Amino acid sequence: MSRTLLIVKPDATERNLIGHVISRLEKARYKIVEMRMVRLTEEQARKFYAVHEGKPFLDDLVKFMTSGPVVPMVLEKENAVLDLRTCIGATNPANADCGTIRYEIAVDIEKNSVHASDSDDNAKIEIESFFN
Ligand code: ADP
Ligand code: MG
Repeated sequence: MSRTLLIVKPDATERNLIGHVISRLEKARYKIVEMRMVRLTEEQARKFYAVHEGKPFLDDLVKFMTSGPVVPMVLEKENAVLDLRTCIGATNPANADCGTIRYEIAVDIEKNSVHASDSDDNAKIEIESFFN
């Protein structure tokens, strides 16, 4: 079993899609082991997306991620990190495979409804940034 972090982003909480995302995850056999609803500060959002420092979309991304509540959760499953990346689909929903969460509910390349850790190392760091 391994763990990863998923965040329901503000575009999805705003459209009342928290339950929808949770339902998709549970049906995909993830175990939700921790979950909260939080409003990120600008500082927290910048720190979370520090790898994107210098990218042209970072300021807008930080604005977006602090625009409403988000729902971070720790998910457990076999091969959780890679499996979840497959489940959520490509960053740009226009390129996301049919059946993925982003294909289904994302608005655009920025407002793409969910975050998922991209490696076991980052999953560990991201989980620690939200839970104890
Ligand atoms: P992912 O979330 O799929 O791992 P990245 O780590 O590349 O994608 O980017 C982090 C987040 O930044 C994306 O989920 C999206 O919200 C936003 N983003 C990425 N690329 C762009 C872009 N070209 N324009 C606007 N927002 C972007
Ligand atoms: Mg990423």
